[in-house]
Amino acid sequence: MRIGFVGLGNMGAPMAANLVAAGHEVTGYDPVAPLPEGLRPAASAAAAATGAEVVITMLPDGPVLCAVAKEILPEMSPGAVLLDCSTVDVESARAVADAAAGAGCMAVDAPVSGGIGGATAGTLTFMAGGPAEAFERVRPLFDVMGQKAVHCGDAGAGQAAKICNNMILGITMIGTCEAFALADRLGLDRQKMFDVVSTSSGYSWTMNAYCPAPGVGPQSPADNGYKPGFAADLMLKDLRLSQQAAEAADADTPLGLAAMRLYETFVEGEDGRGRDFSAMLPRFEKRRRGA
Ligand code: NAD
Repeated sequence: MRIGFVGLGNMGAPMAANLVAAGHEVTGYDPVAPLPEGLRPAASAAAAATGAEVVITMLPDGPVLCAVAKEILPEMSPGAVLLDCSTVDVESARAVADAAAGAGCMAVDAPVSGGIGGATAGTLTFMAGGPAEAFERVRPLFDVMGQKAVHCGDAGAGQAAKICNNMILGITMIGTCEAFALADRLGLDRQKMFDVVSTSSGYSWTMNAYCPAPGVGPQSPADNGYKPGFAADLMLKDLRLSQQAAEAADADTPLGLAAMRLYETFVEGEDGRGRDFSAMLPRFEKRRRGA
């Protein structure tokens, strides 16, 4: 397929490289990041989109996505698909889908789970929103870049699934970390805590697969000085998106709100920036009740 790829940062670069390795013809553009080997360079986002059957974007946020979409849609061929894999707010995803339809193209919002490791290994999970016809057109690309793609519904449904999943993840990580901190104070051995909880009703992905306690459970960022992994900054971004969506949809999400505030304090007021989101555990460890 002829593919345009805009946004070749930590995630975009390995995703684009996998498409090239699978034999696709990829033209790339990023104002800052270097072009991965095998991509044809374009002088602008619009140039990368010209003549492409699918244009993939992997950008920081909704405002950047909307600006890029405005620039590239007039250059895209009729019937081409704009496949946005960034994590953005639901409203931006829907606005881009409307703009694409107005330009005679189709849009799919397909944020990913799996991080830089998954992008490099081609094992991402895609959660997609948009017309079924467009989803089927880009499915072969999902197969190259990932191991699973779920069509969640209309425009914005992919972003909705992503922020709901990550709201659960943020809340659960905090719960797991505060339970470990409580267990410490109660004199309970961390390994014993893991052995019980990971096979009892408190089990979760954060406990069983990504345990925040160093030396306990499978290898995780906790065993590597809390280097991300999934950075607390990115968790904060996703929790803010879930609160923005909850506000717009008038949904009551008290724990999501509390989780967002806690990650905000951790990242912006403490030492959380650039650390894995499981570094909540050493944070709780240091603190006392009500401090
Ligand atoms: P990144 O900052 O490394 O990459 C974003 C790239 O977009 C940068 O290289 C930047 O130069 C480029 N860019 C900015 N403005 C642009 C413009 N106007 N035109 C073209 N390119 C532009 O970020 P990342 O880690 O690759 O994340 C990308 C997206 O994926 C984000 O939405 C993020 O939330 C999401 N995501 C990231 C991870 C992760 O672990 N890093 C995991 C899941 C989802």
